[in-house]
Amino acid sequence: MSSTLFEKIINKEISADILYEDDLAIIINDINPQAPTHLLIIPKKVIPKLSDATTEDKEVLGHLMLLAGKIAEDLGLDETFRLVVNNGAKAGQSVFHLHLHLLSGRNLSWPPG
Ligand code: AMP
Repeated sequence: MSSTLFEKIINKEISADILYEDDLAIIINDINPQAPTHLLIIPKKVIPKLSDATTEDKEVLGHLMLLAGKIAEDLGLDETFRLVVNNGAKAGQSVFHLHLHLLSGRNLSWPPG
């Protein structure tokens, strides 16, 4: 049985708006978007949070970052996007299966307002 929400999406036990999938990762639209484009880039390997990753996860972590650039290019995001990783409940993490948020299409000034 899948345990995390994202495992259920990866295993097609629940539906999601899947934009991309390969052996290592899946990209979906966030169900509660915080920007005109709000994607979740999710490894198929269950790593509960970034701080749980180990050197064994180097390939998958690098893959997620490269996918961010690729999907941004494919969607024509004009090389303008922000990646966010919430690590831990106190940082706003609600799904304990590592994921990158990719946000684009609104003012992305820094520091965030
Ligand atoms: P986080 O709070 O960093 O763990 O992010 C979890 C994200 O998952 C939130 O932005 C939610 O809106 C998103 N989310 C929750 N359920 C779903 C779902 N069924 N499909 C797509 N995104 C979801």
